[in-house]
Formats: sequence, C-alpha cells, structure tokens
Amino acid sequence: MSTILVFVEQSHGAPRRASLECLSAARATGLSVAAVVAGEGAEQAAAGLGAFGATRVVALTGAARWSADAVASDVAAVARELGAKAFLASATSTGKDIAPRVAALLDSTLLSDCTALTAEGGTLVATRPWLAGKALAKVTSTAPVFCATTRPNVFPAAESGGTAEVVSRPASNGGRASVSAVAEKSGGKLDVKEAPIVVSGGRGLRGPENFHLLEELAAAFGSAATGASRAVVDAGWRPHAEQVGQTGKTVSPKLYVAVGISGAIQHLAGMRTSKVIVAINKDADAPIFKIADFGLVGDALEVLPALTKAVAAARAR
Ligand SMILES: Cc1cc2nc3c(=O)[nH]c(=O)nc-3n(C[C@H](O)[C@H](O)[C@H](O)COP(=O)(O)OP(=O)(O)OC[C@H]3O[C@@H](n4cnc5c(N)ncnc54)[C@H](O)[C@@H]3O)c2cc1C
Repeated sequence: MSTILVFVEQSHGAPRRASLECLSAARATGLSVAAVVAGEGAEQAAAGLGAFGATRVVALTGAARWSADAVASDVAAVARELGAKAFLASATSTGKDIAPRVAALLDSTLLSDCTALTAEGGTLVATRPWLAGKALAKVTSTAPVFCATTRPNVFPAAESGGTAEVVSRPASNGGRASVSAVAEKSGGKLDVKEAPIVVSGGRGLRGPENFHLLEELAAAFGSAATGASRAVVDAGWRPHAEQVGQTGKTVSPKLYVAVGISGAIQHLAGMRTSKVIVAINKDADAPIFKIADFGLVGDALEVLPALTKAVAAARAR
C-alpha cells in the first residue's frame, strides 16, 4: 500500500495536537500512515503515535540545535526511503517552516492550509480556501509526491488504537540557520492558532485598558486564547501575535467570539472557518453579524463582565 508521511511536531516529548489532527487526516485517505518526528523528546513523542494511526515512526534524535534546513533534509530523506506518495504537515509556524522545504527537496509543489483531504479514485484531493475564504477550491497535484499542510483545528485528532514500529536514527547537524535559544511565552498563554476557543477584541473595546475584560472572559472559558483585529494591533493595543486575519493568523476554533470587531473582509479571512461564531457589537448592522451564528447587540464594556460571570457560573455547575 502507498505511504503517506506525516511530519509530527512535539514539545518536551508530547506530540502537538495539530500534528495529531494531521495524522487523522492522513489516515482518512486510506493510505498507510508513517510519521517522522524530530527534536529533543522525539523518541518519547514517537512512542504514542501508533495510537493515532501511524504504523511506522522515524524519530530523528541527537541534533545539537533545531535547524529547519537540516530537519527538512532529514524528513525528505525519510520520504524518499519509504517511497512516500504523499507528505503532510500542519500549517503551524513550524509546519510552514518545514513543509515548503520538504516539498522543494522532493521536487514537488505544496498545497497549503488545506481544510479537507480525500482520496478520489486513487488521487488525493485537497480543499483549500481561496479569495480570503470566500471560495473553496478542490485541488490535486501532478507532482511526484503530493505535499500539503492542514489547517489546525479543522480535522479531528482521533485515536485509532493501533501500534507503530518505531525506529530512531541520528538527525543531521548543521543547516544554514539554526535556533540558538527558545524563550517560553510568559504566563503559558495559549496560541491563538491552536486554542479551541478564541475571544477576539477590536476597536470597539475603545482602548488597551479595557482588554482585561476580554482576558477575563478567556480565563472564564478555561482553554481560550485572546485574539485581536489588525486595527488594535496597528494601534499598539495588542501584540501582533494575537492578530487574526489576512495579514495575521488563520484560526479555526470551536468557538470564536468577536467583540467590538466590525467584520472587515480581511478579518473574516482569518476566522470564517470557526465552528461557531459569536459577535458582540453595538451596531446591529455591523458586517460581522452576517457570518455570526449568534449575535448580541450591545456595548462590549457592559456585556463582557456579565458574559464572563455567566460563563464562570455555567462552568462551576
Ligand atoms: C491589506 C490589508 C490587510 C488587512 N489585514 C487584516 C487582518 O489580518 N486582520 C484584521 O482584523 N484586519 C485587517 N485589515 C484591516 C481591516 O480592513 C479593518 O480595518 C480592521 O479589521 C478593523 O478592525 P476593527 O473591526 O477592530 O475596527 P473597526 O472597523 O473600527 O470596527 C469597530 C467595531 O466596533 C464596534 N463598536 C464600537 N464601540 C463599541 C462598543 N462599545 N461595544 C461594542 N461594539 C462597539 C463598531 O460598531 C464597529 O463595528 C487589513 C486591511 C488591509 C487593507
């Protein structure tokens, strides 16, 4: 059976959820799933991948420093060795760093940020949002190896209950650029791209001093991240890492709460594939209400404390 190779990201030996989603997407194609995992903790992460559908796992161990060049070259070598017909990674920051390099090394093209993947008559077909998410294109590839990235939070991270044959091998050292140090984010905040719930604020919050209301709502939800419109990022109210949209991050959480955000096309481009969208805006004609599943017309500064209280009470029940 043909093989699909998945690049699995891990942190301190724990596979990232976005990569487990990628394994599920790979499994759904019906191809035989292999995985490759790199970096410190790779062997530990590799051990759990059989449960998510990988039948073979290669752990690249012992690299002195993380280098995207070197990792991509090792991953491409594994793909060649396995005769992989397809290669998948998640469209995270790391995945976006590795996947295009692997595709280039395999003399292939990359279908990025796919939201569906199917096998139709033996051909892999990916669905990709186009035109800032207004259209969905079904695309395939004539390249020797089908290479794609999957959008985080779109595919389930389903367990298969299987086991995998795990092999370890030394990772390459070198590469043209390598990471010399990694600073952990302060406060252990969730990344807006991977959080299951995103609570985003816009200019309607009136000033940076009011964003604590948004943070309190995120904290009440538990596993939620705070996001922002570009207008507030440009104004210096919020860090760029929180920006959602065409020139920010693309998110696809289970729940997206847009507070004081008008719903410009460039913002929608980054969040319209969210499962449930809630909009809070004082203008009943704001465009955001056109794509919202639930809308609340009101002043964010009054609505947010009441909503936070209600969410906290509901979770305490
Ligand atoms: C090339 C390009 C790329 C872009 N990329 C992005 C991007 O990645 N992400 C992005 O977000 N934007 C992006 N933009 C900017 C985008 O066009 C909008 O300008 C921006 O999204 C507006 O942000 P906003 O909704 O916070 O502000 P506004 O459009 O000013 O909307 C504020 C909203 O708050 C409401 N409001 C006001 N007071 C209250 C209150 N008290 N309570 C409740 N609601 C209130 C108003 O009714 C209004 O709907 C881009 C633009 C361009 C040209």
